[in-house]
Amino acid sequence: MNILVTGGTGYVGSHTTIELLNKNYNVIIVDNLSNSNEKVIERIKEITNRHVKFYAIDLLNEEDLNQVFINHKIDAVMHFAGYKAVGESVKLPLKYYTNNLVSTLNLCKVMERFNVYKLIFSSSATVYGKPASFPIKEDFPTNATNPYGRSKLMIEGILSDLSNSNKNWKIVSLRYFNPVGAHESGKIGEDPNGIPNNLMPFLTQVAIGKLPELKVFGNDYPTKDGTGVRDYIHVVDLAKGHIKALEKIDALDNYEVFNLGTGRGYSVLEVIEAFQKATGMQVKYKFVDRRPGDIPVSYADATKALKILNWKANKDIFDMCIDSWNWQQNNPNGYN
Ligand code: NAD
Ligand code: UDP
Repeated sequence: MNILVTGGTGYVGSHTTIELLNKNYNVIIVDNLSNSNEKVIERIKEITNRHVKFYAIDLLNEEDLNQVFINHKIDAVMHFAGYKAVGESVKLPLKYYTNNLVSTLNLCKVMERFNVYKLIFSSSATVYGKPASFPIKEDFPTNATNPYGRSKLMIEGILSDLSNSNKNWKIVSLRYFNPVGAHESGKIGEDPNGIPNNLMPFLTQVAIGKLPELKVFGNDYPTKDGTGVRDYIHVVDLAKGHIKALEKIDALDNYEVFNLGTGRGYSVLEVIEAFQKATGMQVKYKFVDRRPGDIPVSYADATKALKILNWKANKDIFDMCIDSWNWQQNNPNGYN
C-alpha cells in the first residue's frame, strides 16, 4: 500500500513514517520544510534501510499536490502538516487559519478527485479546552481557547461533514495528548526552532547546558504539587497508534475520533524528577508565574483506542526521558 504522509519530515510524521516502513508500507512524504529539515529523509533511510519518496511542496499549492497523486497511486493519507505553536497562533491567527485550513481543504479536494478516501488526521487534546472533569473522554464537549485549537476543531468539523457527504470516506481524527521522546536510535527527534515552547525539549536543553534553567510555569495549581499535570506520550507509541488506526480503518464508522494518551498525568516536578533519575543529570529550575492560557490538568481516557483499535501506550515516563535525552545528546543542535 502507498501511504501519503503530509508533514512527514516533522516530529510526529517522521516517527510515524518509520513505523509505516517497518510494516512494509510504501511512504510518499510531502512537506514544505517550514518547520523541519530535509536531513530527516536521510535519517529515516538509515534507520529503516528503506527508500522514501519525498516532495518538498506546499499543500497550499493544489496543483503541486495534484501532481503527486498523478505520480503515485495513493491508498491512504496521514495528514500531519500544519502549524502548531499556540502562542504564535494568537499573534498571527490568519497565518494559522490559512495554513491549517486551506492545506486540509486542498488535500481533501485532491483526494476526492482521485477517489482516495482514507484519511488519518492529527488533532489535539487542545480541542477539549478546559474540561470539567478527568480523565478526558472523546464525547466531552469541545471548546478551543486559541486560534491553533480552533483550527483543529474547524478541521474536525469539516472532516465530519465530508464523511457525511459521501459514505466512501473513512476518516479518523486522532487527538494527541503531549507527545515527547524520540526514536530509540537517537537519529530523529523533536527539533524546535529557537527557544522551545514545550517542557521536554526545554528540559533537555537545560540539561545539556544550552539554556541556563527551566522555568516552571506556576506552582499554585490545584494539583498534587501545585505544578501543571499532563499526559505525556512517547512519540513512537503515538506513531504506532496511527498504524493501528490505518489497519482498522475499513471496519470503523465513516468518521471517528480517538484520544491518544497514556491515561496517566505527570506534574512538571514529576517529569523533572523522572528525567533526573533516568539520565543521572541535574536540572536547574525555578518557579515563575503561570503561563497565560495554560490549564491545570489534562489527561486522557484512552480506553476507546484500546477497545476499538487495540492500541495502548507501552512506553513509560523513563523511556520518554531517556530517548529525549539520547536524541539531544547525539544532536545538540538538532538537524543543523
Ligand atoms: P511539526 O511542525 O514537527 O510537523 C509538521 C510538519 O508540517 C512540518 O515538517 C512542516 O514543515 C510541515 N508543514 C506545515 N505547513 C505545511 C504546508 N502548508 N505544506 C506542507 N508542509 C507543511 O509538528 P508535529 O509536532 O510533528 O505535529 C504534527 C501534527 O500533529 C500537527 O498537525 C500538530 O498540530 C499535531 N499535534 C502535535 C502535537 C505536539 O505536541 N507535537 C500535539 C497535538 C497535535
Ligand atoms: N511548562 C513549564 N515550563 C516550560 C514549558 C512548559 O513549566 O518551559 C509546563 C506547562 O505549564 C504545562 C506542562 O509543562 O503544565 C506542559 O507544557 P507543554 O508546553 O509542553 O505542553 P502543553 O500541554 O501546554 O501543550
